[in-house]
Amino acid sequence: MNDQTGNPAEAFLGKVRKAKATGGHQVDPNQLLPKLEGTASVVRSFCTGCGNYLELSQVKAEKLATSAKITLPPNLEGWYFETESCRLCDGKGDGVFLKSLQ
Ligand SMILES: [Zn+2]
Repeated sequence: MNDQTGNPAEAFLGKVRKAKATGGHQVDPNQLLPKLEGTASVVRSFCTGCGNYLELSQVKAEKLATSAKITLPPNLEGWYFETESCRLCDGKGDGVFLKSLQ
């Protein structure tokens, strides 16, 4: 996934540089099933821009939902977000969808 340039400085920068949002990634439902790892995490989000999975806290989930004019269900268990870009990538899309795991 990462660009291999052979230059150590470049290789290091590659780790902090944002992922390239190529778009069109498909969610893998199996990646959404494991228990959330973060103690504050309440829901996962999947980025179709870069294909990364993130865990969101309640506060972040609410912010994301508000930005997309989505009303959150009282309990986010069984739901996940799908976004067109995320903090890990350089995606430009601002689409946000709340989807059911079933
Ligand atoms: Zn992303």
